[in-house]
Amino acid sequence: MRFHSAPVRFFAVIFAACISLPAVAQSTLPTVSPADRAEAVAIFKQLIEINTTDTPLGNVTTATKAMEKRFLDAGFPAADVQLIGPNPRKMNLVVRYRAAGTPTLKPVLFLCHVDVVQALRSDWHTDPFQFIEKDGYWYGRGTQDMKDSDAALVSTFLRLHREGYKPKRDLILALTADEEGGKFNGAHWLVQNHRDLVDAAFVINPDAGGVELKDGRAVIAAVEATEKVYADFQLTTHDRGGHSSIPRPDNAIYELTTALNKLAAYSFPFELNAVTRTYFSNLADRETGQTAADMRAILQAPPDMAAAARLSQEPSFNSNFRTTCVATRLFGGDANNALPQFAQAIVNCRIFPGHSPEQIRQQLIALFGDPKLDVKYQSDAGVVSDTAPDRKAMTPPPPIKAVFVPLTRITQEIWPGLPVTPIMEDGATDSIYFAQAGIPSYGYSAIALELNDVRAHGQDERLPIDSYWKSIDFFYSFAKALGNE
Ligand SMILES: [Zn+2]
Repeated sequence: MRFHSAPVRFFAVIFAACISLPAVAQSTLPTVSPADRAEAVAIFKQLIEINTTDTPLGNVTTATKAMEKRFLDAGFPAADVQLIGPNPRKMNLVVRYRAAGTPTLKPVLFLCHVDVVQALRSDWHTDPFQFIEKDGYWYGRGTQDMKDSDAALVSTFLRLHREGYKPKRDLILALTADEEGGKFNGAHWLVQNHRDLVDAAFVINPDAGGVELKDGRAVIAAVEATEKVYADFQLTTHDRGGHSSIPRPDNAIYELTTALNKLAAYSFPFELNAVTRTYFSNLADRETGQTAADMRAILQAPPDMAAAARLSQEPSFNSNFRTTCVATRLFGGDANNALPQFAQAIVNCRIFPGHSPEQIRQQLIALFGDPKLDVKYQSDAGVVSDTAPDRKAMTPPPPIKAVFVPLTRITQEIWPGLPVTPIMEDGATDSIYFAQAGIPSYGYSAIALELNDVRAHGQDERLPIDSYWKSIDFFYSFAKALGNE
């Protein structure tokens, strides 16, 4: 996944319409030497030109091994550079930048996936696995999602090490497999099998969040501070069938559609958490009229439910207020002239943090109230089971100062006056595995992109060269700020 969801886009549109922001000024952050720049480009190019798709041509290990070599060549101790994973083609690299002395604080983990989505030469104007510079952009699969940030973090770690920087806490960089798909999700595997390697006070995941540009001007920096949980449910009704010339009241299709109509009419309860509270409070300051009043009213205790209902008419707000479940697929029937023996639908849910998929399954069963209807869980791999996972994503803590203070300061050094807001994603990244393990995770790339030029997963993926340098400026100072605490 890369880049943020609809609510922020909506926010940015409102925001851009009512406030004119200062032009992007020159950063006062430390400048990058020509040698460091050359290395940062070489790493980016190397990563783009290694195919890390989940296809017979792709190999994540080739990329992580290449990065392993760079860290070992730079003098990182071999024990702190671990190439590790459940599959020889999907090895993760975990690099530990040691603190001086015995740290009192837990480490900070930077989480970066190195796999990319398939890209076909025939769909692109250039070879997706060639790093090509054109018109102020670098082209190639992964230039936006997320080899730009992989390269920025690798080069930052190497540069800090070369400069002799000694953090007060360990800084960890995990380069992982199968975020985009595949059976060997590196983040999940590391949390489950090598918690010691990736255990941290919090995670910074550049696979989400970022700086939104509008006509070249930065309008907002969004930090993903929590995300909803994805779950698919399979609804099935069975019936004895029969000849369609003799219909009966029992009918698999009608029973299924009765359940789906109940779902269509149903709203899960309104909820807020620390992240969405901050988000709507920020948004209320920039809104006007009834909408601003409604946003303030939902933040009261107890929340004004009439205001919540009005705001919920905007779908992107609605999905920030509650768990949502929606029918996305439909199958059924046997023949045009036979009573259906089965009917089936897939219902896709985006679960508000703090609830488990199994809790939502039970709520759906109660809502449908039909013992003839099976409500089963379908995993990402397509495996159907009678019950759903019990694990809930953590309820997010308030946006923590240790992250937001330096993040905001450094972001505003690069983009003066730029508002920074935490958001809850409706989509999903590998942050979820850390959230489920109780480790807060913040999604922020410091990559600036035009809203209409988000090409992650698409054709002719490209990154403005200037955005790469700004993200390097950001991560260099940010890693140092987090390490200095
Ligand atoms: Zn991604």
